[in-house]
Amino acid sequence: MSPRILLPVFVLSLLLAPQLVSEFHVTLLNYIGLYSIVAIGLVLLTGVGGLMSFGQAAFVGLGGYATAYLTTATSLPVWIASLGGSPWLGLLAGVVLTAAVALLLGLLTLRLSGHYLPLGTIAWSISLYFLFGNLEFLGGHTGISGIPALSMFGLPMKDARNFYYLIWVVVLLAAWLTINLLDSREGRAIRALKGGVVMAEAMGVDTARSKVVIFLIAALFGCVSGWLYAHLQRFVNPTPFSLNMSIEYLFMAVLGGAAHVWGAVLGAGVITVLKQWLQDWLPRLLGASGNFEMIVFGVLMIFVLQRARDGLWPILCRLVPQRAIARSVPVADVLPRKSLPEAGEVLLEARHVVKRFGGLVANNNMNLNVKAGEIMALIGPNGAGKSTMFNCVSGVDRATEGEVLFRGRPVTELDSREIAKLGMSRTFQHVRLLPTMTVLENAAIGAHLRGSRGVLPAMLHLERAEENRLLAEAARQVERVGLKSSMFEAAGSLALGQQRTLEIARALCADPCLLLLDEPAAGLRYMEKQALAELLRKLRGEGMGILLVEHDMDFVMGLADRVVVMEFGEKIAEGLPEGVQRNPAVIEAYLGGVD
Ligand code: ADP
Ligand code: MG
Repeated sequence: MSPRILLPVFVLSLLLAPQLVSEFHVTLLNYIGLYSIVAIGLVLLTGVGGLMSFGQAAFVGLGGYATAYLTTATSLPVWIASLGGSPWLGLLAGVVLTAAVALLLGLLTLRLSGHYLPLGTIAWSISLYFLFGNLEFLGGHTGISGIPALSMFGLPMKDARNFYYLIWVVVLLAAWLTINLLDSREGRAIRALKGGVVMAEAMGVDTARSKVVIFLIAALFGCVSGWLYAHLQRFVNPTPFSLNMSIEYLFMAVLGGAAHVWGAVLGAGVITVLKQWLQDWLPRLLGASGNFEMIVFGVLMIFVLQRARDGLWPILCRLVPQRAIARSVPVADVLPRKSLPEAGEVLLEARHVVKRFGGLVANNNMNLNVKAGEIMALIGPNGAGKSTMFNCVSGVDRATEGEVLFRGRPVTELDSREIAKLGMSRTFQHVRLLPTMTVLENAAIGAHLRGSRGVLPAMLHLERAEENRLLAEAARQVERVGLKSSMFEAAGSLALGQQRTLEIARALCADPCLLLLDEPAAGLRYMEKQALAELLRKLRGEGMGILLVEHDMDFVMGLADRVVVMEFGEKIAEGLPEGVQRNPAVIEAYLGGVD
């Protein structure tokens, strides 16, 4: 079967399913749908964004309880009385409430790093659960019953078969919105959260904002699922919104394939069916009822995750021949460029920069400047402090003392994101690419600041014109550095030298006036080095300033206009390449050093 028709076949079977299976199985499918909606949010949050949440069920609860309360309360407080009665207003209230709570919790917990984030989510998951159980107006542990049925187009949705279509339309909608989002400028920023925060910030991405965005979206998907649940069951109590259920949601996302949207649906399906099956069969096999199914379920989970770390979805994909689409670069207008500064203008100036790591002085009283239209090389033996200097001037790290000016503005205290906005762009000595993303997409992250359309247009794919311009620009830069033939390959599959070159393309996508390159020629072959030198000369000719760290002396000497030499964190020489090359201190540093 051609992969192209898989989605239509899936949708068609969804359409026909209620006519072909029993009422019991329709109900099961309804639950799979409800869980899928939450799990899709978790794919975005945990699988893609790398943020572990043990609290999704609490958001499902907020959605469920908001509508349960508003549609059943006999006397509402005056300020919300107008919302009473209607499930649709219940949904609206749930969404607003969830957004407010998620925003607050997100701002509080997303700053926590490492293990503290999961612990934080466990804490609020438990708190919200007990809140549901202890608030008298929410019915305590007994819950709220008598929730009215939904009605659409004048048709009350009282049975599982009617409800089925609504649930699965929402599942498909959630999947569509999420897939769209991930395939956009905002989506690339989100995909950079797992393992690429430093790089993304240096490209101007506000990663803290991206985290809050995915947290909010995941919470809202949970809320909508809870709303549907409340009107399907017509009854809520705290149990389905407990920590246990949160963990189960996480299992669904992880088992399905945490980084794949359709994996969420698969995971929700497999776990729901498996649990049902274990509940039916285990008591018959073991001759007693107990919570054995939970134990068997746990063991099975561990087994599957041992065998398939990336979940089931990638395995399923391997069984189906992959769609061989000839991916093409969109044709689009050229993005507007900033005018470059006058040649000779001092772009970057570091004054008396000191950087200490504990007792180690990595940079000591470093002074240097870079002008527009020149290539300035920073050289020195390994460990001399060159990369540290790069980090201090680009805002990736903060100087302990001293001052950094960029285009006359003090930037010592600014984050790399702010400095990127001013027109500085950089590469990293230890390449920071997103290995599973294509070469083109990696480069496009560099163009982040040249687009402005936000999350909502991205989810609805209303930003395609801008997106095409960004991708076309990324493709131009990829081509410019000589990687055109690898445009749609995963960045991780490139040779290391090419990965460095890709970093240059990414930096160029930002339309910088100052380019910082940390050992760009390392790992390149002779011809590739020649091509790189040619490119750098061309950029210099256009008026760009370039600060270059390089080990290859021949490369530097033939290219740089000025050279600064560092050793043990200090500047030991500065001047024209020929002069520096003859400087006894430099000869000593290079011959005496490990290099
Ligand atoms: P270079 O780029 O010239 O090879 P670096 O700037 O990477 O040198 O390193 C300069 C010195 O600072 C080295 O001794 C290195 O071990 C130390 N150093 C660099 N980064 C850190 C850090 N984050 N924490 C502690 N020490 C560091
Ligand atoms: Mg270095």
